[in-house]
Amino acid sequence: HASSENDPLVEGRLWDEVDVNVLKLTTEAIHKHDSLAGIELQHGGHISTNYFSRIPPFSASNISVGPRAPIQARSMNKSDIRDFRKWHRTAALRAMQAGFDLIYVYAAHSGTLLTDFLLRRFNNRSDEYGGSLENRIRLLREILEDTKDAVGHKCAIALRFAVEEFLGPNGITFENEGKEMVEILSELPDIWDVNISDWSKDSATSRFESEGYQEQYIKFVKSITSKPVVGVGRFTSPDTMASMIRRGIMDFIGAARPSIADPFLPKKIEEGKIDEIRECIGCNICVVGDELSVPIRCTQNPTMGEEWRKGWHPEYIISRNRKDSILIVGGGPSGLESAVILAKRGFRVILTESSSELGGRVTRESNLPGLSEWIRVKDHRINLLKKMSQVSIFCKNKILANDIIDFSDKNNFDFSHVFFATGAKWRRDGIGRKHREKIPGLKNLKVYTPDDIMEGVSLKGKVVIFDDEHFYLGGVLAEKLNKDGAEVSIVTPAPDISTFTHKTLEQRHIQKKLINLGVELFTNMDVLGCQKGKVELSCVFSNSRIEKECDTLILVTERKQNDELLIEFEARKENLTNPRIETIRSIGDCFAPGTIASAVYSGHLAAREFKMELRSETPFLRERIYVSRD
Ligand code: SF4
Repeated sequence: HASSENDPLVEGRLWDEVDVNVLKLTTEAIHKHDSLAGIELQHGGHISTNYFSRIPPFSASNISVGPRAPIQARSMNKSDIRDFRKWHRTAALRAMQAGFDLIYVYAAHSGTLLTDFLLRRFNNRSDEYGGSLENRIRLLREILEDTKDAVGHKCAIALRFAVEEFLGPNGITFENEGKEMVEILSELPDIWDVNISDWSKDSATSRFESEGYQEQYIKFVKSITSKPVVGVGRFTSPDTMASMIRRGIMDFIGAARPSIADPFLPKKIEEGKIDEIRECIGCNICVVGDELSVPIRCTQNPTMGEEWRKGWHPEYIISRNRKDSILIVGGGPSGLESAVILAKRGFRVILTESSSELGGRVTRESNLPGLSEWIRVKDHRINLLKKMSQVSIFCKNKILANDIIDFSDKNNFDFSHVFFATGAKWRRDGIGRKHREKIPGLKNLKVYTPDDIMEGVSLKGKVVIFDDEHFYLGGVLAEKLNKDGAEVSIVTPAPDISTFTHKTLEQRHIQKKLINLGVELFTNMDVLGCQKGKVELSCVFSNSRIEKECDTLILVTERKQNDELLIEFEARKENLTNPRIETIRSIGDCFAPGTIASAVYSGHLAAREFKMELRSETPFLRERIYVSRD
């Protein structure tokens, strides 16, 4: 309903008949694949910003809207409650009309109108919808009954319900009210979809939770209801999934992120292709798309979000025997991904890597605290490459510009295209977002970069990390060095630590962890300069200054492409004795330093579009609004 929208976040809508027709396109496509389609009907209650509709939000009580809007929700009267029940019923009927088979009543994530009524901290009512548990659950019960009455003859009615909020007596816990609510409603829904709250806990990253982490909270549900139970937990291992079912924890496996990483996950399990599963790494780059209202993306699956607009299928790619051979220099995420896709397309691929191990930054970063699952980016691709006869891999093979043709002749490889995937390295001069000139006085201190730490430099004493990148690495290094025994401080010009990780739902967990570890945090602060044994910090607003004792400074600011080889090769190619090289290009961090997801995407894009006719101007389809005078 128009009284519930989360602008600027984009969500699906089912407000009227036009929306029904739009959603029908989705259900028809799902049904063509012999699958059932489900829809989650949500009214946001006190978290509705309503920037678009300008309807004042409403809730169980008069309470502030979430942090995205400085307004308050008004308290619903009886007529509002009647309206809400009517709208939900209408939405359920529309969902059925649109072809959905499974219709959700949504009372999870502490962010719906129904949870506003359930939760004591949001519900101050003194009528029959407030006070006792029986009263607070009344609206949810009515909505479940209304929905069953409206569409239950044709559709299954699921209840999505968070049994634990981690707020102790201030919220629902699986040992008291969460359990009591399941007992009260036990047989009413056709299926229970149970989880934990809030969203950052439910969709926790692998840095903070391991596969199957929700089991301890949700396992009681099956002992209370005879209805089937589904839950989530970033399941990627078929053994863990089977164990959840066999041990009677749940009846269905929910797998949102694992299916983003590999939409063919169930099919691969069914066909026994377990080693081909592209496992989710739990990085939450997919959530960044939500938070920014842009198309979804995924670190492991570069085709995610590009299926329609670029026509990329996650598994299938047209393969022909091609005569061209391609040399890829660098076996990091972009080099590995482009090797897989070029080989799938039928090209001959020669992949060289200067170090003894493939994986580049993925191998290095996955050794840092909490990031071990990221190694799957490398493992999955190496596993595929090993089975491809048209791929040759050479590790410990440092290539110089002059060597490229020699290498070809020596190994009898007749390649005419070179992709440089040689990555990037962190700067040692402090240049980044805050400083466009070198930080003064760096020679007075021991200065290291994240590359040094990942290569094994061990530090003790007073370490200051200057994080001007604002993503995960500064915080992860602080954690590592603290565990190694250093006295760590982290300085950032941002208002909080690792501030971009708000968009991966991790920020407050990171900051909490660092505080608990005893890492000293300096936010809204810049490193102005360095002297022997200390750094000078200044407030980014007032310029007021303090000195901080420091033995070692670590700069997490900006990276430089490792493009020396490309530049040298470009310069010398005219003089090469053998002029057969037709294509030279760089990919991944060597082209433009970014996230691991961007590097994988860059490698995929280069390989997909190699020798293809490309769409003119805008390189993807766009959804457009057509304006007519009729
Ligand atoms: Fe998993 Fe990361 Fe892909 Fe999300 S972006 S589905 S968390 S691999």
